[in-house]
Amino acid sequence: MSEHNLAPQIAAYEREIGTLREELLKEIGHLEEKKEELSACLYVKFPALQKRLSALPPTLRTIKTDYASLRSQVRNFSDFYGTAIKEIMAGINEMSEANKDLIEKYRKEVALRRKYHEQLVELKGNIRVLCRVKPVLKEDQHEEGQTVVVTTDPNNESALTVLSKGKAKNFELDKVFHPQATQEEVFQEIEPLITSCIDGYHVCIFAYGQTGSGKTYTMEGTVENPGINQRALKHLFNEIEERKDMWTYTVSVSSVEIYNEVLRDLLSKDGEKLDIKINPDGTGQLHVPGLRVMEVKSFQHIKKVSPRVSSNRITFGTQMNQHSSRSHALLTVTVLGTDLASGAKTTGKLNLVDLAGSERVWKSGAEGERLKEAQNINRSLLALGDVIQALKAHHTHIPFRNSRLTYLLQNSLGKGNKTAMVVQVSSLESNVGETLCSLKFAQRVCKVELGPAARKIETGGHNENKLSVTISSRYHRKFSTGKTGDDISVNLA
Ligand code: ADP
Ligand code: MG
Repeated sequence: MSEHNLAPQIAAYEREIGTLREELLKEIGHLEEKKEELSACLYVKFPALQKRLSALPPTLRTIKTDYASLRSQVRNFSDFYGTAIKEIMAGINEMSEANKDLIEKYRKEVALRRKYHEQLVELKGNIRVLCRVKPVLKEDQHEEGQTVVVTTDPNNESALTVLSKGKAKNFELDKVFHPQATQEEVFQEIEPLITSCIDGYHVCIFAYGQTGSGKTYTMEGTVENPGINQRALKHLFNEIEERKDMWTYTVSVSSVEIYNEVLRDLLSKDGEKLDIKINPDGTGQLHVPGLRVMEVKSFQHIKKVSPRVSSNRITFGTQMNQHSSRSHALLTVTVLGTDLASGAKTTGKLNLVDLAGSERVWKSGAEGERLKEAQNINRSLLALGDVIQALKAHHTHIPFRNSRLTYLLQNSLGKGNKTAMVVQVSSLESNVGETLCSLKFAQRVCKVELGPAARKIETGGHNENKLSVTISSRYHRKFSTGKTGDDISVNLA
């Protein structure tokens, strides 16, 4: 292309450049203006902002510190709380351990007490024959033959001497109460049996003797001076109260009399006749269908029942005592126990028997109906003697069925049960025949035996839990086999 052709084009370019420069300068001017404006604005606002910014940190710092302190407080508190909970839990555990320990100890203690109690009762013999000599009362003084022929030995609690036809006859029983012995002293000998009953044993307590010798006095006593029955029930309810944290008990009573071999309910108004049957529950135990059984909640409650029982007894006058009772009266107390911890159950039975007069028929001057009655009484007392003797001698056959009384008491008289027979005697010469008969009866059922308890304790040489009792001389004969040099020494530390 020639130089000539380029010139206009160059000029056009130059024009265009010129326009662009103008526009650029305008734009620069614009920007300069904006810059001025902005910097003026910055100049005004920045210090305030700076000021606000510089004011922020202290607040932030406090908030930060506060937050940190709060955090540490929370951490500390939860630590503290955790430790406290741990300590409380440990305390609770320790306490319940200690509690468990205490309860366990208490249980062991109770079990041990029971075991020792049983050993003590067995040591004394599961069948004990006691004799109570009646004091000579004013009313007895009117009779003939005032001489006192029965003497007790202050140095030997088990000996008794009867003077008959110029001869002294000696008797030895488990225990002899002198005429001045109190109702409380008599009960003291019986008390361990009542405790056994609460522990689940069957217990029989009999009063035996001729009419007027004090059977009813010993069993029932008087209002001012109650006998075994009331004292036993009082003891029973006291014991139940003491054990209430570990055991609950239900106590019920029933009462029958056996008159002329007929059983009557003393808790029914009209003395309903009853029968003894084998329980249909398959246990082989005997029971009396229709017998009234009353649950009693307290000693006071039971006291209200007793007068009804007494007034319901059939009594006939004989030549020996106008108010004598010709029937056997039986008060039965059933004690059902439940161990609160284990649920284990026990059934104890306490049979309190006021027997009919033991006098021989000819002396009562009985005839006809009265003679039959007297024969029945004598027969049933004989049967009772036979049963106790057979039990003591560990015979395989025990003649329970020979009388209503022994049949009724079969479950309570058998092996593993406990019996006490209180033989009542008069000390006057006019009664010496009956006294001798009663003592012979007592002697018959009180043969010297080697009790199982004696053997059990004899082997306890290495036993740490030795029974701590002192056995008075009256029990020594229990451990004698009768042969010389054969005595068992009982070492009870
Ligand atoms: P039983 O029942 O054997 O026929 P009781 O118990 O009725 O004889 O006694 C006859 C009388 O002798 C009653 O008045 C009784 O109170 C009284 N008696 C019996 N034993 C004693 C005694 N140990 N102390 C005081 N009085 C007694
Ligand atoms: Mg009587």
